[in-house]
Amino acid sequence: MMTKRSEYEYPINRAIRKMIAMKMNVGSSMVRHDGKMAHPVNGYILTSEQILELDSKNELTSWGIREYAERLDKEARTPVLCPVHQIEMLDTTEWDLPNMRFKYCPYQDGCTARYSKETGHITTSDLPSR
Ligand SMILES: [Zn+2]
Repeated sequence: MMTKRSEYEYPINRAIRKMIAMKMNVGSSMVRHDGKMAHPVNGYILTSEQILELDSKNELTSWGIREYAERLDKEARTPVLCPVHQIEMLDTTEWDLPNMRFKYCPYQDGCTARYSKETGHITTSDLPSR
């Protein structure tokens, strides 16, 4: 049976060869805790999917990688506000769904707002019951 990773193997190897040919500083690939392959490029850590996304947009250049990494970093540091209470949502300490961590609204009377990068803004009623 083909695994998802092997679909990426050839395009990612080609993308890595392309970056090396462009004299980028490409380090040894590693497997992250979530099982995704990560590649150090010019001091940034990018997953195979992110590299292929940049490659598909013809942005696999030192400039494109820096722009992309800085945008991800900025997004990670931008607070997410509850759409109801306009207060900063906090990271949950537990995983609401397998591999998906949600932010919750710390409003004192309770709030059903949840947010994740994958789903955007939802409420707890949008979550499948456990
Ligand atoms: Zn709220």
